Amino acid sequence: VAASETEIIDRFFTHLGAMRGDVRLGIGDDAAIVTPPRGVELVMTTDALVEGVHFLTGAPPRSLGHRALAVNLSDVAAMGAVPSWALLALTLPEVRTDWLADFAAGFGELARLHRVNLIGGNLSRGPLTITVMLTGFLSSGTALRRSGAAADDGIYVSGTLGDAAAALALTDGKLSAATEPAQWLRRRFEFPTPRVALGQAVRGFASACIDVSDGLYADLGRILGASGCGAVIEVDALPISDALRTAAGDSAWRWALGGGEDYELCCTVPPGRSAVLAGALLDIRGSLTRIGWVRREPGIELRRGDTVIQFSHSGFEHFQT
Ligand SMILES: [Mg+2]
Repeated sequence: VAASETEIIDRFFTHLGAMRGDVRLGIGDDAAIVTPPRGVELVMTTDALVEGVHFLTGAPPRSLGHRALAVNLSDVAAMGAVPSWALLALTLPEVRTDWLADFAAGFGELARLHRVNLIGGNLSRGPLTITVMLTGFLSSGTALRRSGAAADDGIYVSGTLGDAAAALALTDGKLSAATEPAQWLRRRFEFPTPRVALGQAVRGFASACIDVSDGLYADLGRILGASGCGAVIEVDALPISDALRTAAGDSAWRWALGGGEDYELCCTVPPGRSAVLAGALLDIRGSLTRIGWVRREPGIELRRGDTVIQFSHSGFEHFQT
């Protein structure tokens, strides 16, 4: 890559994403220089996508560009922060300009949407690996953490759950669906919607928040573990898309509970603030669904009506992030 590295960077990456006034020096020097506003805390996160581990060989590059940024935006959203600057480290087995153009298009479109400026990075040769580091802003002391949930808080999730895992199962032949729902599910996996505005909207009255990357059961478990409590989930309240219901039928709730890669938000809200929550969500894309409540007893209890039901987490393997 070394011989044409500058050329590749100029052509595909120098003007990628939003152009922000707080970037004093972007791509092109040894390092970038940025000026954070006064009074903000910086939120920083990074995530790597590795071929064969997080995505299949031959995955569409536009989707990879989108997902590499989306998974990081989702983490920034889960803190309630406003995204700002990104670094991109790209390891490529070979230079293919058509692949790079599509990758950059997927990354750039999502970056512009969320006013993220790509300010630097690195190109090297090796097995296909995409690493993004993302920074965001927060007013000091206002971050949404995993550790604030308390007994009687309502548990809420955004969007619909289980779609991405079902899409992977369609690819593996473990699930089948008609063309239209299959395409819809595949799109949910390839182009997840990070809930950036929603994370900012619930900051201030949610008691805890996490983004659902490994599946609701696992990720809610992280909130409960950090907060020292347990939960009751009403499985019939889980938000499930028409496409997943068509594909998975009566077991759709199992996909919603165990399936990862959806990048929705799961948050807890104290009972006294649920009215504020409803008001704050009026202008936000991606509503929240109440799926249960926090309680003192540890563990997650699943209920359908008055019946306690069992859920085995095995059998929902996915490309672990
Ligand atoms: Mg996360």
